[in-house]
Amino acid sequence: MTVFNQERLLFDPVNPENNAIPLIFAFPNEYTIGITSLGYQIVWATFAMRSDVNVTRLFTDIQEPLPRFPELLGFSVSWELDYINIFSLLESLAIPLHSRERNDNHPLVFGGGPVLTANPEPLADFFDVILLGDGENLLDSFIDAYQEVRKANRDTKLRHLAKVPGIYIPSLYEVTYEDREGAIKSIEPIDTDIPEIVQKQTYRGNTLSASTVVTEKAAWENIYMVEVVRSCPEMCRFCLASYLTLPFRTASLTESLIPAINKGLKVTNRLGLLGASVTQHPEFETLLDYLSQPQYQDVRLSIASVRTNTVTEKLAQTLAKRNTRSITIAVESGSERVRKIVNKKLSNEEIIQAAVNAKAGGLKAIKFYGMAGIPGEEMEDIEQTVAMMEAVKKAAPGLRLTLGCSTFVPKSHTPFQWLGVNPQAKTRLKYLEKQLRKKGIEFRPESYNWSIIQALISRGDRRLSSLLELTREYGDSVGSYKRAFKQLRGQIPNLDFYVHRNWSQDQILPWQHLHSTLPNKTLIKHFQEASRYFTQN
Ligand code: SF4
Repeated sequence: MTVFNQERLLFDPVNPENNAIPLIFAFPNEYTIGITSLGYQIVWATFAMRSDVNVTRLFTDIQEPLPRFPELLGFSVSWELDYINIFSLLESLAIPLHSRERNDNHPLVFGGGPVLTANPEPLADFFDVILLGDGENLLDSFIDAYQEVRKANRDTKLRHLAKVPGIYIPSLYEVTYEDREGAIKSIEPIDTDIPEIVQKQTYRGNTLSASTVVTEKAAWENIYMVEVVRSCPEMCRFCLASYLTLPFRTASLTESLIPAINKGLKVTNRLGLLGASVTQHPEFETLLDYLSQPQYQDVRLSIASVRTNTVTEKLAQTLAKRNTRSITIAVESGSERVRKIVNKKLSNEEIIQAAVNAKAGGLKAIKFYGMAGIPGEEMEDIEQTVAMMEAVKKAAPGLRLTLGCSTFVPKSHTPFQWLGVNPQAKTRLKYLEKQLRKKGIEFRPESYNWSIIQALISRGDRRLSSLLELTREYGDSVGSYKRAFKQLRGQIPNLDFYVHRNWSQDQILPWQHLHSTLPNKTLIKHFQEASRYFTQN
């Protein structure tokens, strides 16, 4: 049996018409990862339910039988470093990497997903079309608009698509620089009929997404995923998951969540509740009561994220009964001051209480998630994180305790987008490791070096395209990026410019022409509120 035959579909694909658009929809990683992406599943099903599209899937390890002459080739991009796989897949299909080198015989290469919506510029040269924002209405608008110009030449197609709200055609915008190694001077459309600003699309319905396919080959075996909320109302100032996808939206319990859950639980007993902050759903308690009914007693429940002050004993009990052993909570820091900087409305007492409740409810482990190098953070704040972890250990003995920790990485469209990565984060991670291990608390740091690369892609501009191509030649390591920067010295800004430097708020950002929900002046206001808590050193 092939991998595809093991899929249980929760939607009805239609038979494509004879004249349907041959479309390849790719995920630039292995099947098991791609098919676990709810976004990928939804977009694929949307195409498969249109009779005027003949969609086939492509992953880095397996593929369905592909059309010989695809007209559209799409990528769902959820992880920054998957760009390397995008290059390989383009090459395997004999499609030039650069948009400018493609002609009428090549498909239009389009992309979407969180990485491209946040900042598509480092990858802009490789895509003909980028879809910005929620797919709900955008995908249909894209295909409808493409149908109108399907027989036209490439240039006409792209210019036509550029007029659809949320569709960004990078080649129709010219970027100029102060100098080769300097900041951006201007970003302008190349013609007056091309919109100056592309507005990310926001879906406002009350039915959110749910899995369209369940398979034992998924990274989370046989999981059925339901999106409970979209975005997060907390607005922690570094958080892309909140700022990029505002406003906060919740799925209707009766019209969306319960019907979706009933449908999914007919084919599997593993349920994942997804969203940046699922426990913020106003009817979350009712949802838990619903899942506590006897007919669901075999259901294995996974919850993506839990807010500290929603960890009640009842929640812990429900999770423990549903086979969950552990919960993860983002606390960011043990320092109240740093939490004020990031707008995390949380006290150490609440964090300790969450652990106490988790233990009382029968959970075996709790994982906190924090960050080093948060803007304004000092060494004393790191010491306070150690002290907080110790206090938790004392208050909930026997509960397995872990601190996962990453480095602060600036993200576009957030109030911290102008700030660089603090190089001291590396030492601070080491300090945490040493102190916590000494006290018998597990510490799981994320690689500092990879945070550097994430920051590079997060704040990059189009000049990085040559760097990304070179890096790929040198292999998959941070040293490769450094080597590529060295080779391009004098032609593009250095690593420090993109990663560590604080940018002026007057500087033109690489994504200045791509608008999200909040304007820069609001982000500046939020940044100023954060800076009130910086110490005056
Ligand atoms: S609570 Fe979590 S998801 Fe919500 S804004 Fe803060 S970090 Fe982001």
